[in-house]
Amino acid sequence: MSYRDQDLLPIAALQHFCFCPRQWALIHLEQQWQDNLLTSQGHILHERVHEAQEESGPDLRVSRGLKLLSRRLGLYGVADVVEFQRGFAGQSPYYPCPSNDSSRSDREDRWQYWRIFPVEYKRGRPKVHRADHWQLCAQGLCLEEMLNTPVLQGAIFYGQPRRREVVCLDERLRAEVNKGLEEMRCMWELGQTPPAQAGSSCRACSMSSLCLPKASAKSALRYLRRNLTQLAEQ
Ligand code: SF4
Repeated sequence: MSYRDQDLLPIAALQHFCFCPRQWALIHLEQQWQDNLLTSQGHILHERVHEAQEESGPDLRVSRGLKLLSRRLGLYGVADVVEFQRGFAGQSPYYPCPSNDSSRSDREDRWQYWRIFPVEYKRGRPKVHRADHWQLCAQGLCLEEMLNTPVLQGAIFYGQPRRREVVCLDERLRAEVNKGLEEMRCMWELGQTPPAQAGSSCRACSMSSLCLPKASAKSALRYLRRNLTQLAEQ
């Protein structure tokens, strides 16, 4: 399957969907958006990361703000940082470099093996939910398709504390992402915003004043009960 341009969905949508399907629907179906302090700080951090100077060295090239695309999954987005790490024959987990430019005369500068390592920047702390992991995994899947090379690891840089968490893009995480993507596509086709499931995520949610989780959860319940009562009376 190869998705057409008009059917592509942003990787950020998958992250929103993992956090809360209602938040996803408010943003991506209803086109509503509301920043809070956390999201504003996040935008500033991403801008800084993307604008930083590209770094390179004999064994490392760093690309910032790299555009991503997977026609197979129907996803597009932007990676904060992708590290291209040079490897050598027999070294694991490095892979033959398909884009190796054989026209270059400087053999020392030609990479035979490489490892591709996406890094996503987050201003806050590691979280209980898996949205950051889904986002990184989706980036890795896009890079695999674009560069025809396995991407088995990446990292999330958390601002608090300032450290990288290395993430294995293993079968379990890939299966979670594929299932989430399937569910998100179904809801996209349905075009309906699900009722709120008020929970601990609501405290950090930028959409809470639009969502009104307690009020909408109650009204969804009332709506269901009213319909069930009407059905029972018929
Ligand atoms: S406030 Fe809660 S239920 Fe509403 S969109 Fe945010 S996380 Fe979801």
